[in-house]
Amino acid sequence: MIRFRYSATLLALVALGGLSRAGSAQSLRGSMASVDRMYDHAVQDGLTFYETTNAVHWAAARGELVQLHSDHGYAMRRVAFPYVRPATLTFVERLADDYERVCDEPLVVTSGVRPESRQPSNSSHRSVHPTGMAVDLHKPTNGRCLTWLRRELLALEGTGVIEATEEHHPAHFHVAVFADDYMRFARIQSEANPTVMIVARTSPPAPTKQPSKRYRVREGDSLWSIAQQHSTSVHELMVANGLGSETKIRAGQTLVIPSH
Ligand SMILES: [Zn+2]
Repeated sequence: MIRFRYSATLLALVALGGLSRAGSAQSLRGSMASVDRMYDHAVQDGLTFYETTNAVHWAAARGELVQLHSDHGYAMRRVAFPYVRPATLTFVERLADDYERVCDEPLVVTSGVRPESRQPSNSSHRSVHPTGMAVDLHKPTNGRCLTWLRRELLALEGTGVIEATEEHHPAHFHVAVFADDYMRFARIQSEANPTVMIVARTSPPAPTKQPSKRYRVREGDSLWSIAQQHSTSVHELMVANGLGSETKIRAGQTLVIPSH
């Protein structure tokens, strides 16, 4: 299984020969050059650096950011804002799938988008977390899994589709996903190995449609907190309740909670 998968990765790497940064030694060591590469990529792609929590919620409502779900083959630990760019979500899902096959444990995501106003004080002002293009991954304690993850990230970085660094305080991998290049790579990889279908992988198991629930808004609730409580998104709540551009809700109001 693993060998089959690896050969598909190799085929994709060969097909992508033109993408790789010829001659540049790949490393997971963080550097200013690495920070600049991610930042320049984000600027080139015209990505928005979301400044506030509200800006993140609005980007999610517009579909610029998509939601990470801990029941989709990976786990999340202390993720304050479970949103990333669509290509970054595809990266997480595919990596998590491989990781679980190799390691028998779920990949753990520790951070997604972080608005400028919520960046830790020691973060670079050129950090790309405010764009949602980056994720942080928990560093596995199991040596075999750690080796596999390092090798996989290095291989992907070698193709130029991601930029990854191994951070130490706290210990984690930081990965910025270059959307266009990564999605091209993912398509080629799927064609090289037709049994790996992005769509099949990202689709949840056949849903049993349940009737929508209703929820009475309490003092202190926000669309965000209600979405969190009911495993849905602000966007889905807004659509289900025909809220248009209105995000203010008041205590006593009844909301439809969309079913899955
Ligand atoms: Zn990071």
